Amino acid sequence: MSEPLLIDLSKPGRKAYCYPPLDLPRGFDQALPELPPELQRQTAARLPEVAELDVVRHFTRLSSLVHGVDNGMYPLGSCTMKYNPKLGEHIAAMDQFTQIHPLQDISTVQGCLSVMYNLLEDLSSITGMSWGSLQPCAGAHGEYTGLKMIRSYFLKRGETERVKVLIPVSAHGTNPASAAVVGFDVVEVKSNKEGLVDVEDLASKLDHTVAALMLTNPNTLGLFETDILKISEMVHKAGGLLYYDGANMNAIMGMATPGDMGFDVIHLNLHKTFSTPHGGGGPGSGPVMVNDRLRPFLPKPDIELTDSGYVYRWDDEDSIGKVSMFWGNFLVILRAYVYILRMGSEGIKAASRHAVLNANYLASKLGQRISIPYGKLCMHEFVASASALKQQYGVTAQDVAKALIDEGYHPPTVYFPLIVDEALMFEPTESESVESLDRFIEAFLRILDLAKDDPKILKDAPHHCPVGRLDEVRAVKEPDLRY
Ligand SMILES: *Cc1c(COP(=O)(O)O)cnc(C)c1O
Repeated sequence: MSEPLLIDLSKPGRKAYCYPPLDLPRGFDQALPELPPELQRQTAARLPEVAELDVVRHFTRLSSLVHGVDNGMYPLGSCTMKYNPKLGEHIAAMDQFTQIHPLQDISTVQGCLSVMYNLLEDLSSITGMSWGSLQPCAGAHGEYTGLKMIRSYFLKRGETERVKVLIPVSAHGTNPASAAVVGFDVVEVKSNKEGLVDVEDLASKLDHTVAALMLTNPNTLGLFETDILKISEMVHKAGGLLYYDGANMNAIMGMATPGDMGFDVIHLNLHKTFSTPHGGGGPGSGPVMVNDRLRPFLPKPDIELTDSGYVYRWDDEDSIGKVSMFWGNFLVILRAYVYILRMGSEGIKAASRHAVLNANYLASKLGQRISIPYGKLCMHEFVASASALKQQYGVTAQDVAKALIDEGYHPPTVYFPLIVDEALMFEPTESESVESLDRFIEAFLRILDLAKDDPKILKDAPHHCPVGRLDEVRAVKEPDLRY
């Protein structure tokens, strides 16, 4: 049943508060300046008038309609919806961290600066880079920042002809978007039949006009680029740099580093790899980490540890400048630091091993009934194809995804990456036990049986939600956000 809006529950004169009558002298507020007439309302605002109980029940009902990792599996490929330890939430809610201001005297925020400084040290060792900046507030923002640094690097060297960024076809959509926003021309690199970078195609596109290759490894098919050392050598030889999209870091933490693979700059998605609830669009944190070559170009200020404590450094002349107000999304940064401290280096490594194990377990079971076009072994995620279901029974990836909602699961990512027809992209993460994976597999197989026996049910799914099939294109093109 759908939940009415508060304004629909409104009854004139009903109130959610009850105060004693005002006993201040008349005119006590006359010292306040009058608003200019053009800013004053002519009619009273139309606000819902409801009782406190109406408000409480409304939001309680809404909260029970929400699906999150805390109430069910959330295998949304590419997004790394892992469990967020409550310890991190508890610490991020402490007054010591929430009741501070970025402009207060630096001597009073030394603890918070130590969190950022120590986190940068940890992330440097996890990524094999020399240093970084915590300012970017999302993965895409990190991409923008990293590419901006690459641009500054070539401008400083006078290599103004380097205007292209090479991006594999399987890349996340933010990659070409960020490159375009920074002013680069985007050139696609083909995938080979294994779903990896087509090295010959790459070679044919490398020349003095290429600024960088942008790559995620493992890629969005969940496959590790086995030729990565050869690829990075080729790009460097052609005078270009390598950008690593670190959103898939969940797969390799403690096992391999982008630094060792030859990358010059990487962004991390703290809100994916290092906890923080991030459904529904935020908040996020997308730090950039760099090697020595790009370090002078990092956003400023940097944080430095001196004999008298932590200080900000503003004097780097090659810096691209600020990319955020103040210091980024501090509470996400804090959760990541708590997560890393709590796990330790062995725990971080174990998280990646379990993420990969869970994905392979799921792939091997589902793969008996649905095609997984690329790769025998995957990393932290894999992409299945509902193409055969569509041909045989008219059941699409969208139908399967919607039917999973009825089974109590968040759907996988669908129709991405584009190189897989009717794509269903699963990322179970390390959080799930083998029992919960088995329950998911059973649900999925029930849906495949229905596809054969009663496809109409799937076509009409979901059956147990307040809303079913939304006109997603219209919602994007004509967002109607007002009542
Ligand atoms: C999520 C993701 C991004 C973008 O990160 P946001 O924080 O959503 O901006 C980029 N690349 C890959 C591979 C991703 O999974």
